[in-house]
Amino acid sequence: MDTAGFFDEGALIAVLTTQPLDRTLDYKAPEGGCFPGAYVEVPLGPRKVLGVVWGPGRGDFDLAKIRTVIRVLDVAPMRSEMREFLTRAADYTLTPMSAMLRLATRAPGLSDPPSMRKVFRLGQGEPERMTDARRRVLGALEEYGGLAFTLKELAEMAGVTSSVVKGLVKYGAVVEEDSPRDTPFPPLDWQRSGKALTDEQTEAVRQLQATQQSGKYGTTLLKGVTGSGKTEVYLEAVAEALRMGRQALVLLPEIALTGEFLTRVQARFGAQPAEWHSGVTLTERRRVWRMLGQGDAQLVVGARSALFLPFRDLGLIVVDEEHDTSYKQEDGVLYNARDMAVLRAAMCSARVVLASATPSLESWANAEAGKYDRIELTSRFGPAVLPDMRAIDMRDEKLKAGTWVSPTLRKAVELRLAKGEQAMLFINRRGYAPVTLCRACGQQIACDHCDARLVEHRFLKRLMCHQCGETKPIPEACPSCGAEGRLAPVGPGIERLAEEATALFPEARIATLSSDLFGSARALKAGIEDIAKGAADIIIGTQLVAKGHNFPLLTLVGVIDADLGLQGSDLRAAERTFQLMRQVAGRAGRASKPGEALLQSFQPEHSVIRAILSGDEEGFWRAEAEGRRAAGVPPYGRMAGIILSGGDVGAVFDLGNALARNDFPLRQIGAQVFGPAPAPIARIRGRHRVRLLVKAPKGVALQEALARWIKPVRLKGDMRLAVDIDPQSFY
Ligand code: ADP
Ligand code: ZN
Repeated sequence: MDTAGFFDEGALIAVLTTQPLDRTLDYKAPEGGCFPGAYVEVPLGPRKVLGVVWGPGRGDFDLAKIRTVIRVLDVAPMRSEMREFLTRAADYTLTPMSAMLRLATRAPGLSDPPSMRKVFRLGQGEPERMTDARRRVLGALEEYGGLAFTLKELAEMAGVTSSVVKGLVKYGAVVEEDSPRDTPFPPLDWQRSGKALTDEQTEAVRQLQATQQSGKYGTTLLKGVTGSGKTEVYLEAVAEALRMGRQALVLLPEIALTGEFLTRVQARFGAQPAEWHSGVTLTERRRVWRMLGQGDAQLVVGARSALFLPFRDLGLIVVDEEHDTSYKQEDGVLYNARDMAVLRAAMCSARVVLASATPSLESWANAEAGKYDRIELTSRFGPAVLPDMRAIDMRDEKLKAGTWVSPTLRKAVELRLAKGEQAMLFINRRGYAPVTLCRACGQQIACDHCDARLVEHRFLKRLMCHQCGETKPIPEACPSCGAEGRLAPVGPGIERLAEEATALFPEARIATLSSDLFGSARALKAGIEDIAKGAADIIIGTQLVAKGHNFPLLTLVGVIDADLGLQGSDLRAAERTFQLMRQVAGRAGRASKPGEALLQSFQPEHSVIRAILSGDEEGFWRAEAEGRRAAGVPPYGRMAGIILSGGDVGAVFDLGNALARNDFPLRQIGAQVFGPAPAPIARIRGRHRVRLLVKAPKGVALQEALARWIKPVRLKGDMRLAVDIDPQSFY
């Protein structure tokens, strides 16, 4: 623990609270004093709020009115490196410190004392009279020799009421004890032997571990084709961190992937790691938070917010599928977990491993520039080879209206089915149809609150807005003109594709994998495992299936609409399409049978489609990098988005215009402002959205200029201003 600067009782200290105040507040240190970083409860007006001791008091407040810290919480103090991380992350994302602290204290019951619970275990005594129920209780306890259970667990195990257990306590046959509610995670045994690695993997592990042993910060881009064993390799980096007595964090882009990863951790280290994501219960979250702080959890697998957990000695952060767009938080604090991982690691002398088959252009460019190390895995594990990739030129195919599987793709699927292999049809659209059109009046059904069309989800029997989540039953009559029975779905979604596949391949077992078709992460995981074992002949999937799942029997991937991502003006459209198509195609032929990927396209001559097919990845990145360099956009220039929103469209535009006029702080650093313009989605949840885009040369102090630029803004009424540094999606 860093004991530097202990504050004695009564000393003036600055406390950062979770309240939106944008500054620290002065208090007096409590009886017994406190350490910098201590979690405290302080009075604020009539309330008690959570805070962290940030340093010596500012002394700019009437001393007579300064109040005393109520109490110091019984958790490990926030380490200085974590305080530094939060400060830098706040500066980078232009986020108030209070919001950063809220991210770092997302564990319920933090201010409660470490709670105890009653547990029951076998005692020495004998009951006066033995009943059947009593015998069952004692039998259950004997069976699990020595273990203790809660009253509820024990009663359930024995199939008795809790009064039976309590009766046995009276005779001392069962003993009641207090035990801490938050228990340490089982130790992970890095000494167990892992899989025998290939030469290429062994060399990758050697290089990675060598960088770890320096004990200094650094980032490695681990680039390897899908199925080359990147996970096996970074598990050895985890082993090395554990060997060095340090903790490790593995970030995954999708909860659905944690199941498979947990199994692999169990196999490698003999126990399960801690988990941190939206599917984890509140009590478990508290346990993870506390145990990490005291060093009783060695490895966390989780979602991006795990970066804000209070690790005691974080030595390694792995960002798997580092190019994945879900690493960018698009709500609340707008941060990119990949960048924050690098920042966090720099603060605590940890290593970062960015793993991907198709890295983001940012990471690729950092490796090119020598800022990141680069390790490459070039071949798939075992006999698996990369799939043969070809385009199907849709201009030559004869398709009936309302169908999307071309005759060529259909034949290819039939061939696989005949051989007893699996085929996948990929479409990156949830629901039945993206548009519902009235054939009487031509209107498309739109969301009442957003600038978005409602998407038909036939499985749920509802229309759904993919922006705000609002749903309504599918109407009989057109909401605009009232005509009955004239509403028609337009375009394909995954459910409609499944319907077409069922008609085309009546004999085949078809599994549809879309996040909204499964009730829970657990159900999805079970579904994916069954399919991997062969429970389906045809897999119909959205983006979800592109992310890292292993389907050993899968040998054909058919992409329904390879052109989908190429439309639109998004800076990253080409990069995204390239990554997604390569990822999806990478699902095929992961085991011994060679795979094939067929891309349906109306423009197979498009440079991106050609790059995908040729597999000349370096060539693609170089061309893409050249284009961006010429345009002065990321990663060769800097960008920031300002989103203004509010109920009154005129007022929102007025504010946008005022900002654009007063751009002096930006001009000073050579930055330009574009807009205000309606954001691509001009209305969400009834709020109008207007966007300004700032483009700056690389290497200037963009955040500082932005802060000076927006400082004078006074937001009236319901207006909001959000700053998005390095925007990823332009919505
Ligand atoms: P990636 O993360 O690069 O997609 P994985 O680590 O998931 O690759 O490896 C793909 C498959 O090959 C997995 O089923 C994995 O267990 C297996 N595999 C990779 N390397 C080895 C190895 N050295 N020994 C045994 N199995 C391996
Ligand atoms: Zn909506």
